[in-house]
Amino acid sequence: MGERLTCIGIESTAHTFGIGIVKYHPFQILCDVRRVYRPVSGGIHPSEAARHHIEKAVEALEEAMSRVDLKQVDIVAFARGPGLGPCLRVGAALARMLSLKLEKPLVGVNHAASHINIARALTRAIDPVVLYVSGGNTQVIYASEGKYVILGETEDIAVGNLIDVFARKAGLGFPGGPKVMELASKSRRLLKLPYSVKGMNVSFSGMLTMLEGLVGKEPVEDLCFSLQETAFSMLIEVSERAMAMLGVKEFIIAGGVGANARLRQMAGKMCEERNAVFKDYPIEYYADNGVMIAWEGIIQYMLGEKLNVEDSMVKPRWRIVDVKPPPSGLYEN
Ligand code: AMP
Ligand code: MG
Repeated sequence: MGERLTCIGIESTAHTFGIGIVKYHPFQILCDVRRVYRPVSGGIHPSEAARHHIEKAVEALEEAMSRVDLKQVDIVAFARGPGLGPCLRVGAALARMLSLKLEKPLVGVNHAASHINIARALTRAIDPVVLYVSGGNTQVIYASEGKYVILGETEDIAVGNLIDVFARKAGLGFPGGPKVMELASKSRRLLKLPYSVKGMNVSFSGMLTMLEGLVGKEPVEDLCFSLQETAFSMLIEVSERAMAMLGVKEFIIAGGVGANARLRQMAGKMCEERNAVFKDYPIEYYADNGVMIAWEGIIQYMLGEKLNVEDSMVKPRWRIVDVKPPPSGLYEN
């Protein structure tokens, strides 16, 4: 581990255009610039989000350059997938340009692995069960030192999608998460919603249909409260099942829905009851960001991953099981 590496990472998989710069060893965040696309109406429009990223790329890069001299950079990383094709291509284009200009290696990283490994870096979790919950993903993953194993996932829509689509229907705007959380805190009335757990898988489409039908008929606070209590109980149940099956004592949450205080509270309680540890970390790193891409870029570079510019096309459907996990002993001196 003698080598000291600095990596610039570019995130552009969905709504956030982020540039992060990370130094290692030891792990140190040098800069974290974010620009977030907010749709005028409806959910994320991929081509509109991509246009947002193109418009913000130069100012974001300038802001990063005002903090860190790019001459320090040894590696250029970008989120290669999974994500929205038009958005991914913006980050990839900027990364290729930087790699050529700085004459530094180009590394394409997996967005889901990046979420998990920034959580591990910030908490020092070694082989946790991870609940990965975002706008497009809901998975229970065992992040062991040898490989990533998907133990459970949604059979239909992601929990973030459940929240966002319900919120849009209820006129709460996009993204729905923060607004639903705020309204939920004003209610204690639990409505009966479909609770759909099959082994370590979950399903949310029935709950969404029912909630959509209740908009305007029940107070919105009660709908938000019931959505959170039911959906999050399902997620914590499957996470606990995974921990029990493997005998794992560490639990982390990754992805934007992890910003929810109630979900993290339930996670803490579940872990406490089974003598395990819920490893929480600063809330801003649950959301998409460039720092996690930069850190995963360092990890993958150390594992020998490098791309030629001509072979660096994006991978919108890249699954985490095809990614190499970090080497062990990363945080030892
Ligand atoms: P990501 O795709 O990882 O950036 O996460 C975005 C998702 O996180 C969207 O579906 C948001 O609605 C959701 N989200 C953000 N903040 C919260 C919150 N406080 N509670 C629940 N969901 C949230
Ligand atoms: Mg994400």
